Amino acid sequence: MAKHQFQTEIGQLLKLMTHSLYSNKEIFIRELVSNASDALDKFNYLSLTDEKYKNEAWKGQIFIGVDEEDGSLTIGDNGIGMNEADLISHLGTIAKSGTKSFIESLTGDAKKDSNLIGQFGVGFYSVFMVAQKVDVITKKAGETQAYKFTTDGTGEFEIVPVTKESQGTIVYITLKEDEKEFLNQWRVKEVVKKYSNHIAYPIMLHFSEEETTGEGENKETKKVKKSEQINAASALWTLPKSELKKEDYVEFYKTISHGDAEPLAYMHNKVEGAQEFTTLFYIPKSAPFDLYRADYQPGVKLYVKRVFITDDDKELLPPYLRFVKGVIDSEDLPLNVSREILQENKILANIRQNSVKKILTEIKKLNKEDAEIFTEQYNRVIKEGIFTDYTNKETLLEIVRYKSSVQEGLIGLDEYISRGDSQKKEIYYIIGKDEKVLRNSPLLEAYKKANIEVLIMDDEEVDSIVTPMIGMYKEWSFNDVTAIEAPESKTQEEKEEISKEYQALTDKIKEVLGSEVKDVKISTRLTSSASCVVKDSSDPMASMAHMFVQMGQKMPDIPLILEINPEHEMIKKLDALTDDNLFSDAAWILLDTAKLSEGLELKDKIVFAQRVAHLASKAL
Ligand code: ADP
Ligand code: MG
Repeated sequence: MAKHQFQTEIGQLLKLMTHSLYSNKEIFIRELVSNASDALDKFNYLSLTDEKYKNEAWKGQIFIGVDEEDGSLTIGDNGIGMNEADLISHLGTIAKSGTKSFIESLTGDAKKDSNLIGQFGVGFYSVFMVAQKVDVITKKAGETQAYKFTTDGTGEFEIVPVTKESQGTIVYITLKEDEKEFLNQWRVKEVVKKYSNHIAYPIMLHFSEEETTGEGENKETKKVKKSEQINAASALWTLPKSELKKEDYVEFYKTISHGDAEPLAYMHNKVEGAQEFTTLFYIPKSAPFDLYRADYQPGVKLYVKRVFITDDDKELLPPYLRFVKGVIDSEDLPLNVSREILQENKILANIRQNSVKKILTEIKKLNKEDAEIFTEQYNRVIKEGIFTDYTNKETLLEIVRYKSSVQEGLIGLDEYISRGDSQKKEIYYIIGKDEKVLRNSPLLEAYKKANIEVLIMDDEEVDSIVTPMIGMYKEWSFNDVTAIEAPESKTQEEKEEISKEYQALTDKIKEVLGSEVKDVKISTRLTSSASCVVKDSSDPMASMAHMFVQMGQKMPDIPLILEINPEHEMIKKLDALTDDNLFSDAAWILLDTAKLSEGLELKDKIVFAQRVAHLASKAL
């Protein structure tokens, strides 16, 4: 007899299961059935690809037994099974970083949290919501010794050798006193129908029912053992579209998503011809928890001729579509295709290309309401796609949404274009961290005045990398308003004239600010603000500055150009000022306030405050 400690994280998880996640207990059946199905998939694959496991007679099956007399529920399979080492590593430890992120992302809302269980690959432990004791009796395919793993879910487990005829696993659950509802055959059927109807193997329910025979004197009532298949056991994607209703697709989605939410959209396609394959994809209504984790779990499973191959291949779809769930079933790939082969396989590349097209087409077709949900959940990964998927860039640009200077909410580029100047074909944008700062940026004043719409891009981390490399959309070019001339309100001659008029002033300010600015100019883009800072469009570093920060490097010091507004009170007064100290304070304040309104950091906030105070006291 060997006693073992659970890994610490599992201890934590078990506590959570038993004390917090109590609102949706029935899902433990879904989790154990899903594990049984995985175990059958694994053996099925071996039996078809490895001589050692060849077994013509084998038919995968799952069974569920209810026994009211001893208060136990049993969920079993004739799949791959586990040996002693497997039990310790698969059930005693969590290899994936799943548990940690699971615990981290718990919301405290019991209902939501229990929905997360399946997603995190901590499915087995959900059984402790209802179990006082669990015995896992299992024999690994091709081995002779069977083992029993026993735990009451408190921190320890025990493994002993036992005898078991056939390969596979039986999970024997002793239910807690107040969880006996799961001994009711109707209850079990209901749960299986709800979550596991489209598990590809038959699920047999074993139960006993009272039966009365005979009449009058001879009347006799006894318990009879019965068994019944309680799921559809069809690989849904293999059925013709014409036979399937929305409910069927939604049901299957629940099975593969380990949840009970409906999908936002689904797309089922059979491709025939030189290559044959079937795909069934779903877009979840809410993004998976690990969308932005490097170790995300891919959502698409690969099958070859209905045989499960892998659910852990990140190459099946491009990474930016990692939120898509579903199935790819190829008729042409070899069964024993290795991971390395998959990577550069032409057949798969073709499936992938076709799949991306199908998915993006479906996204474009979403109605207004669903498109809004989509944008809220996935706009950011679409931007990632714009950056990485050159082939589908145009389509992705049709899908992506941005905020706009002329309205609330989000708009698409087509909407922008429909309102823009179709002669010039220019798209204007401004990037920064804070929507409010951007909307009030002095740089937009000239655009407002000229009635030109500017896209407000406040997802700086992503936009600052993606937008500068978009280049064109439908012949319209992208322009960063911080790096270009403002829309013209004055002629070149008028501009030169004003510049000359204020030459002495701009020179003097430049002298005060020294190397802090590259130049000081008279602005034609400002109306209400006194000053603004712009990037030097001729400086190649300017558009790349944000990228440095992204890559964890210091923002390079790109010299800014200070522009001042000659119409503004402050500038007029400054021009007439004779006090040099006051002039210097005012010059610095012009620069610092301009920086602040672009959301830029000041080198020394205290000095800034002192200058403002000094100037204010003079004004009084
Ligand atoms: P996941 O299914 O996401 O891997 P689980 O907690 O549900 O996480 O299961 C943990 C592991 O235990 C599985 O990956 C599998 O290796 C093993 N396992 C669980 N149930 C079975 C079973 N019925 N047959 C064989 N192995 C199983
Ligand atoms: Mg599982």
